[in-house]
Amino acid sequence: MDILYKKYKKRKIGPCNICQKTGRLTWDHVPPKGGIDLAPVEIDRVTSHFISNFKLENPEISNDGLKYRTLCSRCNSILGNKYDPALNDFAKTLAKLLNSSLYLPETIKLSIRPTAVIRAVLGHLLTARLSSVDSFFDPTIRELVLNDEIPIPKNISVFYWIHPFAQQIVFRDALMPSRIGNFSEFQRIGFLKYFPLGFLVSDISEYEGLGSLSIWRNEPSSKIVEISVRLNQFRGAFWPEAPSPGNFLMFGADGLESLMAHPNKKLIEEYRQHLKSF
Ligand SMILES: [Zn+2]
Repeated sequence: MDILYKKYKKRKIGPCNICQKTGRLTWDHVPPKGGIDLAPVEIDRVTSHFISNFKLENPEISNDGLKYRTLCSRCNSILGNKYDPALNDFAKTLAKLLNSSLYLPETIKLSIRPTAVIRAVLGHLLTARLSSVDSFFDPTIRELVLNDEIPIPKNISVFYWIHPFAQQIVFRDALMPSRIGNFSEFQRIGFLKYFPLGFLVSDISEYEGLGSLSIWRNEPSSKIVEISVRLNQFRGAFWPEAPSPGNFLMFGADGLESLMAHPNKKLIEEYRQHLKSF
């Protein structure tokens, strides 16, 4: 079964996922350019990691990271200019600390713009929509990206934790138990993970002791606050999506077509050689 991404990659004209106007589409990197080193990656479904039937025989390969051709140039610049710098600063500052040989305490403090980071994370999850219909929190995300004066609504929380892994995972729309081991209440979720951060978007206000950016939901996107990042709060590379005795995901087409990208060492080397030959 081929991935839907393949078809969307070729589409040059179409409706923009954010403003919905039809026109020429531009590439948007998810995770955003400027926050990661762009390198060759193999692209496969997130679900292929735990449902072997979904694994692609020949994974898609992109020479410069995971990217989606789903935004018009105007919306691409809104994300890239207004919100991505906040997300990229957060990721780069943390990456620098984690990559340093400094002795680090269990918790560190970082100054970030929480509601700009939230808009960047949500905007890229809308970028990653490959079906032609809205699901997830799409209509709300659209308003939040296009109008930064609207507060983040109460039914959206964005949690963060450290993700010290190379896998990049962009997942849209599933139901997951609101508490591990309790199958009577479910939350609607999506997530974005790449080195060194994971973000979980949910309609509940607390999950697994994760830090929440949405406690600053009413602050303008220019507001800088100090947040705590717990460096000892390790989760697996495939947390929370990998099934466990107390946890599982229920998803439809959007979840099925959600993507992960693995940096491919052999391809990275070949690509470097290729660049050198110019
Ligand atoms: Zn647009």
